Amino acid sequence: MSRPAPLTEAAIIERFFVRPARRRDVLLGIGDDAAVTRLAAGHDLVTAADAIFEGVHFPAGTPARAIGHRCLAVNLSDLAAMGAEPLWATLALSLPAPDSAWLREFARGFFALADAWRVALIGGDTVRGPLGMSVTVHGRVRRGRYVPRSTARPGDGLYVTGHPGDAVAGRLLLERSRGGRAAAQLRQRFLYPQPRLTEGRLLVPLASAMMDVSDGLHDDAGKLLRASGLGADLDAAAIPLSPALRAVAGMPRGRLLALTGGDDYELLFTVPARREPLLARAAQRWPCGIARLGTVSARPGLRWRLDGRRYRFADSTFRHFAPGRR
Ligand code: ADP
Ligand code: MG
Repeated sequence: MSRPAPLTEAAIIERFFVRPARRRDVLLGIGDDAAVTRLAAGHDLVTAADAIFEGVHFPAGTPARAIGHRCLAVNLSDLAAMGAEPLWATLALSLPAPDSAWLREFARGFFALADAWRVALIGGDTVRGPLGMSVTVHGRVRRGRYVPRSTARPGDGLYVTGHPGDAVAGRLLLERSRGGRAAAQLRQRFLYPQPRLTEGRLLVPLASAMMDVSDGLHDDAGKLLRASGLGADLDAAAIPLSPALRAVAGMPRGRLLALTGGDDYELLFTVPARREPLLARAAQRWPCGIARLGTVSARPGLRWRLDGRRYRFADSTFRHFAPGRR
């Protein structure tokens, strides 16, 4: 039996990243100086890029498969937040030392998610350096049919998908041996965030503004509303906490994790009052569910209430946990 070829850059690309392009809009994929793709008529191109590095965005020892999933998932989440359909991705990969078992698992995680959303990997770069990767994704929307952050209006409802807070709890639990189903579920939510692409596209005709939640509900709701020059009156009791988070973190810690944690990759969006009944009907079929957090207001700032009283909390509770993030 012949020995495997040494892991040069070319061998890494050939063994782990070259796959038949399954999309007809990829005219030239990996292997040339640049990729060539064709955007269907009547569409606009939507582009996002995000880099993740060991020790900053994921702890050392995170499984390679989860890292492969994550570097694409965080980017697809940005496309979801625009209401875009994903098409193509590039991957710039920095590795301290090439290790074929690690690369196999990384590629498995990356392509499982890519295949699930029919995303083609069309190029990239492979370099030696600290463990990290920068992914760029391209997607499309029908001409002009994207959802910016800056177009919320006073009186709109503010909504979030899924269960914010799970991911940051899962991240904290990676360092602890705590057993049980709830802890395992939360770790999974950090390791394998699911981009809300289907929901994002269905929200295009409904949402007035949208973004994804990566830095905690409070921070990100503040960003969305500042982008629109507005504020909001919000109900902390309406934050949709998962049974797993309630079981593991309890209250009020679960709520604080949702407000100030991160890594959720849920969608945060506003909907004009006249379309809220349509949203309620559509969301009945969404496995992730939605929750209405409150109402957009012309008065700047976020005003959280809990049980009829102003709800104040330390806004940087978990910032120390991830030094230098973003
Ligand atoms: P160049 O020197 O022209 O940039 P490279 O030897 O770096 O070419 O890469 C060869 C081909 O492999 C190019 O098509 C490039 O886009 C692709 N590529 C390199 N690294 C990766 C990667 N990690 N994932 C996907 N494609 C890659
Ligand atoms: Mg190169």
